[in-house]
Amino acid sequence: MTSSDHEEMLRHSVSHVMAEAVQSLFPGAKFGIGPAIEDGFYYDFDLPRALTPEDLPLIEARMAESLAADKPFVREEVSKEKARQIFAGQPYKLELIDELPDEKVTVYQQGSFTDLCRGPHVRSTGEIKAFKLLHIAGAYWRGDEHCPMLQRIYGVAFETREELDKYLERLAEAAKRDHRKLGKELDLFSIHEEIGPGLALWHPKGATVRRTIERFWVDEHLKRGYEVVYTPHIAKVDIWKTSGHWELYRENLYSPMDVEGQDYLIKPMNCPGHILIYKSRIRSYRELPLRMAELGTVYRYERSGVLHGLTRVRGFTQDDAHIFCLPDQLEDEIVGVLELARFMIRTFGFPSYEVKLSTRPDKYAGTLEMWDKATETLRIALERIGFPYEIDPGEGVFYGPKIDIKLKDALGRGWQGPTTQVDFNLPQRFDVKYAGADGSEHNVVMVHRTVLGSMERFFGCLIEHYAGAFPVWLAPVQAVLIPIADRHLDYAFRVEKELKANGVRVEVDSRSERMNSKIRQAQLQKIPYMLVIGDKEVAEAAVSVRLRSGEDLGRRGLEEFKTMVKASIDARDS
Ligand SMILES: [Zn+2]
Ligand SMILES: [Zn+2]
Repeated sequence: MTSSDHEEMLRHSVSHVMAEAVQSLFPGAKFGIGPAIEDGFYYDFDLPRALTPEDLPLIEARMAESLAADKPFVREEVSKEKARQIFAGQPYKLELIDELPDEKVTVYQQGSFTDLCRGPHVRSTGEIKAFKLLHIAGAYWRGDEHCPMLQRIYGVAFETREELDKYLERLAEAAKRDHRKLGKELDLFSIHEEIGPGLALWHPKGATVRRTIERFWVDEHLKRGYEVVYTPHIAKVDIWKTSGHWELYRENLYSPMDVEGQDYLIKPMNCPGHILIYKSRIRSYRELPLRMAELGTVYRYERSGVLHGLTRVRGFTQDDAHIFCLPDQLEDEIVGVLELARFMIRTFGFPSYEVKLSTRPDKYAGTLEMWDKATETLRIALERIGFPYEIDPGEGVFYGPKIDIKLKDALGRGWQGPTTQVDFNLPQRFDVKYAGADGSEHNVVMVHRTVLGSMERFFGCLIEHYAGAFPVWLAPVQAVLIPIADRHLDYAFRVEKELKANGVRVEVDSRSERMNSKIRQAQLQKIPYMLVIGDKEVAEAAVSVRLRSGEDLGRRGLEEFKTMVKASIDARDS
């Protein structure tokens, strides 16, 4: 047994102990299932009343008693008939018994609690050293919305107290960085029931960060030979029939709208628009590769239950691009995309990343030969750029192999990042050709790629990665001027004008608050530079510089500060 097998067994055993505690605290409780999950476990209950967070410590206390009593987990094999007697009055268990294929089933008992279970379990409850109940959620029996809603308690369990403490510490740190919480505190974005769930409003400060990212993104793409385009937000339904989205992607599309008797869809993808720009005239092989980029806003239906802040939304702007190239240009193009992805990952300060190459699934478009060749090309490109990668067998989308890069944030959590996807399908469906050197027409090779994913998700990820303390080049307000008294206001406004003229995002805190409270406010807003202005600063054309970390750089001449902050912005220091 590996240590992770043991951990899983341990976690599942804790779910039985929790069920035992719930049974003793809630007579008449009915039991669903209680599997181990990543880091912990859950159990679903049908209870006479709704649980509240205050119930969790009571259940934990009862569980601790069970651990102290070191009750053995006793396995027994019984007939289905016997099992039906044991679980009389437990409708969910009876349902499960009916579905089990064998005549014999196994039950596990510890103390007064017996569960229908295939096992295995740890020897006794005394082996459990470290667990914690985290939260309560509603969950339909069998995940089916037509079945009764049960109450699910989630918990975590580890082999040792130290591991549990470390986990809980990380959880607390993640909660502090939650982009929904910071989004409100830093006035970055909001989501309103009146507008609709999953549709974000970008406030001026969030919009400033986004605009900074977008300008940088556009400039970098232009440098690398991309052309930037715009396409409309709605298009006739027929184009989505040609692309196959209407048929294959239906559950994520919004209903059509009628325009003069013609159905239109709000766009879920940017690809068809780019294809039609390509096809607006005959393309010669000499024009290829053609790289077409767009910060394209798309809308996709997601169930309200899965929406989450900015990271799972219904309307979002992809940093999209499509590359149209000749077959023998594919390798260099993929290398170019990976180089750009690496540059972005580094610039935005992500310490590490994971790369996966997904290969041909069972159902696929194109020929075996096309797949083998393209997959090999992606592999060679990964080798050329020196990315360590793993193969994800059969996980490619039906229309072509792809490379996915997962960003690791400051807490080591993974975020979906750059994706590069070869497409054998759309060039066929849209008949996307080029005129070859031989004078005849050939199918073009098409690549879809994004390096940030979507502006929404990437921004949510950045907020959490930096805990809201954006690097200077991204910070919505880069410096705040803090005059000590009203007589310093004139000078403060002059400095503001001067810094703004030099491209620094700066504000004057002109409120009649005390200096310390202004500094505290600036620290809460995570503003990189606080520039305190008093008599000496005015006399010497200087500012006293404090960093948000609390570090005090002392008095600096205005020119010196200007040079310092501009250098930091230009270098995109993280
Ligand atoms: Zn079990
Ligand atoms: Zn596309």
